[in-house]
Amino acid sequence: SSWWQSVEPAPKDPILGVTEAFLADPSPDKVNVGVGAYRDDNGKPVVLQSVREAERRIAGNLNMEYLPMGGSMKMVEETLKLAYGEQSEFIKDKRIAAVQSLSGTGACRLFADFQKRFRPDSQIYIPDPTWANHHNIWRDAQVPQRTYHYYHPESKGLDFSALMDDIKNAPNGSFFLLHACAHNPTGVDPSEEQWREISHQFKVKGHFAFFDMAYQGFASGDPDRDAKSIRIFLQDGHHIGISQSYAKNMGLYGQRVGCLSVLCEDEKQAVTVKSQLQQLARPMYSNPPVHGALVVSTILGDPELKKLWLKEVKVMADRIIGMRTMLRENLEKLGSPLSWKHITDQIGMFCYSGMTPEQVDRLTKEFHIYMTRNGRISMAGINTSNVGYLANAINEVTK
Ligand code: PMP
Repeated sequence: SSWWQSVEPAPKDPILGVTEAFLADPSPDKVNVGVGAYRDDNGKPVVLQSVREAERRIAGNLNMEYLPMGGSMKMVEETLKLAYGEQSEFIKDKRIAAVQSLSGTGACRLFADFQKRFRPDSQIYIPDPTWANHHNIWRDAQVPQRTYHYYHPESKGLDFSALMDDIKNAPNGSFFLLHACAHNPTGVDPSEEQWREISHQFKVKGHFAFFDMAYQGFASGDPDRDAKSIRIFLQDGHHIGISQSYAKNMGLYGQRVGCLSVLCEDEKQAVTVKSQLQQLARPMYSNPPVHGALVVSTILGDPELKKLWLKEVKVMADRIIGMRTMLRENLEKLGSPLSWKHITDQIGMFCYSGMTPEQVDRLTKEFHIYMTRNGRISMAGINTSNVGYLANAINEVTK
């Protein structure tokens, strides 16, 4: 008998399990609003035109060599411009320690390991709720977790005063994970004014902000606008960390391409920090995959292709915004007595509907609609063909 005989099956991933159940359902009516991946109005996955063009160019000049430990510096440089700003003095002054990461997940994990190695007694404050994998990531990096208030169930918006209290009550110099935009799963972001207050309070308390930016461009359609939270912290002189991902905004989900960066005091410190980030990456995966990085650097390195990409990001964001309006209008037309204003107030890929786990179970059993039991609807899974069906089902189970 094998030594792993007593190993228990791992719990099912709450998000990926939804897709499994969806695929196993033979119903022609079935709808998947579980996983956060963009779909077009025919419910099909999308490969962007800018990505197709980049692929054509890359195919003519194939190169399968290893990247350096820190990944493609050309990709990293373009990626930093998106987060810190095209004309950022921090980029010019080489004050940012940055490495290519295995998408956003890999950037978060590398940062968590970095935190554990050099601040072994620190903890991380994570919003309640958050993307479930944040808990797994910091757990496996062995960093103790605390939560901070974020969502307000009654208003289905931000619980700003409780959030500010938690920031004030945390020990000075605490680590906080912040969603830069399009908060997952709630679709609720602080306003610009609220970000200023948060940044100010971080300054007072000497907290460290780690921004997870998995949806840059998906909130407003404009990557620059979606980086506002980060820009406010930069203006206020914070030294921050950022996780960036091209999964959603370039549709490069399976390519696993992203970036981890840490803003340092000067170039010397940045070189040191980068060397330690590479040192953490080396025994885990040696160096990151080359292909996705080439796609990104090809697009962002060419002004025409970049323009095309920006247009395509906006098309994706606008389609989702349009579906919010349609879903809300459909529910109101059906005479639902509940308020559905939050559907159009919330932004990004998700709507935190406020439906209970029991209501979600009914949606699945009676209507073949698949989503996570926390009531999160992936707006990207909605289209003009299924929005009416979905609205009717939601109306039935919330009556
Ligand atoms: N952070 C958040 C908040 C996310 O929603 C996601 C994707 N679901 C990620 C990070 C990471 O995604 P990826 O590793 O595919 O870039």
